[in-house]
Amino acid sequence: MPNMSDQLLALLGGCDSELAKILAGERTRQETTLELIASENHVSAAVTHAAGSWMTNKYAEGYPGKRYYGGCEFHDLAENLARDRAKQLFGCKFANVQPHCGANANIAAFMAVLNPGDTVLSLPIKSGGHLSHGLKVNFSGTFYKIVDYGLDPTTERLDFDEIERLAIEHKPKLIICGYSAYSRVIDFARFRAIADMVGALLMADIAHIAGLCATGVHPSPFPHAQLVTTTTHKTLRGPRGGMIMTNDEELATKIDRKVFPGVQGGPLMHIIAAKALAFGEALQPSFKTYCQQVVKNAQALAAELQARGYRLCSGGTDNHLMLVDLRPRDADLTGADAEKWLEKAGIICNKNGIPNDPRSPVVTSGLRLGTPALTTRGLGEADMKRVGEWLDRVMGSKGDAETCTNVREEIREFCKPFPLPH
Ligand SMILES: *Cc1c(COP(=O)(O)O)cnc(C)c1O
Repeated sequence: MPNMSDQLLALLGGCDSELAKILAGERTRQETTLELIASENHVSAAVTHAAGSWMTNKYAEGYPGKRYYGGCEFHDLAENLARDRAKQLFGCKFANVQPHCGANANIAAFMAVLNPGDTVLSLPIKSGGHLSHGLKVNFSGTFYKIVDYGLDPTTERLDFDEIERLAIEHKPKLIICGYSAYSRVIDFARFRAIADMVGALLMADIAHIAGLCATGVHPSPFPHAQLVTTTTHKTLRGPRGGMIMTNDEELATKIDRKVFPGVQGGPLMHIIAAKALAFGEALQPSFKTYCQQVVKNAQALAAELQARGYRLCSGGTDNHLMLVDLRPRDADLTGADAEKWLEKAGIICNKNGIPNDPRSPVVTSGLRLGTPALTTRGLGEADMKRVGEWLDRVMGSKGDAETCTNVREEIREFCKPFPLPH
């Protein structure tokens, strides 16, 4: 029986062979490589095909029961299902499932609680934050006054005394926690205590750790954060998209108005259907087991790399990712070179600055590695040892062509018993 992906390729082969080739190539690439990008995952076949369904055909501007277009009967049902499951999953009262992505969720969240020029206290991208938390060239850094907090230079962890000092000094209206490259548990209660002390609101952007938060593998941002934004495609393993949650009814109304008509037009109803499906999957007990395994795998990979002479920022990981400082293994090794060599060998990851990196953001001294995608494919802790060996063999060879080719073939063979969900 051909699976639905084969059917899609056969369909495309009959009408657009040029695109069929591209999609087939990408499927093979995913199938035969090891995906270590911390923000990526492989969704289930059901989520893939719900996202590719006829739900894409509809305009549904507005919200369930209050649409600007006719014919929304089933779209109301799908959006309500997504909202209800999101609320159940995160234990909160309101969810807006329309943001097209995490950055859009943050734009709407900022607009719901801030006026242009208001002060925001956040971790900058160079220390592990996200560009939508205040980078100069982003909307956030353009329209708001951003005050940076940093990490403790010794522990490379959040320095709450410093965050409190900055909050008292700058009286921000919003404090942001939740990051793109931070491997430790976030103490949401401590953040809320600081926010309350200075009359700020607390926003938790759990884009990376959403799956872990939903399953109790990382503490929940509720009831501490008044605003919670997320993506749905990282550890949560849903379609590419965003979401905003809160427990406060007044805030929920403001958020809804800012998502639509404030920031977006018509919602992506095929993606909202796929979100409902993915949230249903995440409510199953097996998803908790998956999230626990993601962390076990990250810790196993971290230990293997440390044993091979790499330094991990903050000394290790509590979640799905790690930030690897390459210099103790080889002072000349850069993140940019490592990323390029590893890709040749079939290991996909991204270079990442480490805190106080002396190299530029396009070169860097680090790699960010995450285990959500490999764990979805069924790899366990013993496999992480092999992944660590391959990483070190390629980097240790300085990208030697023969080594990369050999590792590429070994990985192609290794991947065979771990098929992608089609
Ligand atoms: C990934 C990420 C986002 C944005 O996600 P997009 O869907 O790419 O817009 C926002 N915040 C954090 C902390 C992230 O890691």
